Amino acid sequence: MTQLNYEPIDEATLADSNMPPIAETELVPTPVRMTTTALEFKLVAKCSTTRARASVLSLPHADVLTPVFMPVGTQGTLKGISTKQLEDLDCRIMLGNTYHLGNRPGEEVMKEMGGLHKFQNWNRALLTDSGGFQMVSLLKFARVTEEGVLFESPHDGSEMLLTPEKSVEIQNGIGADILMQLDDVISSTVTGKRVEEAMYRSIRWLDRCIMAHGRATDQNIFAIIQGGLDADLRTICVREMVKRNTPGYAIGGLSGGEAKDAFWRTVAHTAPLLPENKPIYCMGVGFAIDLVVCTALGVDMFDCVYPTRTARFGTALTDAGNMQLKHSKYATDLQPIDADCPCMTCRTYSRAYLHSILGQETVVCHLLSIHNVAYQLRLMTRMRDAIIADEFPAFVRTFMSTMFAHSPYPQWIVDSMRSVNVELNPNPHGITSAER
Ligand SMILES: [Zn+2]
Repeated sequence: MTQLNYEPIDEATLADSNMPPIAETELVPTPVRMTTTALEFKLVAKCSTTRARASVLSLPHADVLTPVFMPVGTQGTLKGISTKQLEDLDCRIMLGNTYHLGNRPGEEVMKEMGGLHKFQNWNRALLTDSGGFQMVSLLKFARVTEEGVLFESPHDGSEMLLTPEKSVEIQNGIGADILMQLDDVISSTVTGKRVEEAMYRSIRWLDRCIMAHGRATDQNIFAIIQGGLDADLRTICVREMVKRNTPGYAIGGLSGGEAKDAFWRTVAHTAPLLPENKPIYCMGVGFAIDLVVCTALGVDMFDCVYPTRTARFGTALTDAGNMQLKHSKYATDLQPIDADCPCMTCRTYSRAYLHSILGQETVVCHLLSIHNVAYQLRLMTRMRDAIIADEFPAFVRTFMSTMFAHSPYPQWIVDSMRSVNVELNPNPHGITSAER
């Protein structure tokens, strides 16, 4: 990845101060309604207790079984794991970062290559983000105007403007099965008028994205619900975006450091407002606990860099929590990370071996990335199987009591599961208000 000068951005400076204020009547224009879709969403089973559901999401390049976790690739390749290995893990959909792909190899090369599928030899489904989030989080001097997101190129310092139209044009060139609208992204910890401004602007940008979308017959554009942690703003955003009739809807603006209690309540409020016959995607969510909670709340799709990022620190994901392989107790432990895991790492190497090579970062990163992605994918499959068997509440109880075998349940997990009629098994350590 290109080394960028990272500098935190003051959210207040992102708000546009030069544009004339938008009149109340122009906050939401006449909706641009979509009539074309390039997906089919077939419900397979619904949990009779929670809001969890299992479906088949048929996309141009693959039939994706939901609930699904989508690993994130950068520069057309996942950190520490190849597309071939993802295929071996039966991964059917992955993410590509529009910002990175737009920089290198670049839009023109991508078009010449015939899109990202061919470029990285991946024949299954792909989803690309709008590029906006990456820019706001990676670049300095970023500023949001009604026209788009203004930022400074890391390569030559020139100013570049990412408009909704440009974002869609780049994503049309990449050719993913699902592309995301450009939205006005703010941190989930921002409060006040800026949240409302970003929400309404995201609706207006959705209209511009739909109008610019040149491949509606073979690429699906997803709207992104904004509105921060404010339930009323989320409701308004859902109502307006549903009028646009996009093939799917994402819940955006979460996993940005907000309290866990606010996180689950926002998902629990937003998901039931969305159409039942369309996929719901919660962006940036990838901790195993969050995947279980959000699946119970009715979410179908997830993505996160966490499994591969945490692999670089020697962390293996398991049902019992994070296994820190650098710990000296693993030096003589000849078991695999997880005896039930069918991944190449678990079939081939012991904890002791992985512990011994921890200094050689690239090898460990690679082996743990394979296991961690396999863990996430298998967690989703196990949930899907439980939903189809209508045993999902029992799965949740077992999962949570294993994860919290040695520590109390966080209150937010107890509350979120209670909201979908699941009482967790008694925990010998009780319940704590501390987050996890
Ligand atoms: Zn494994």
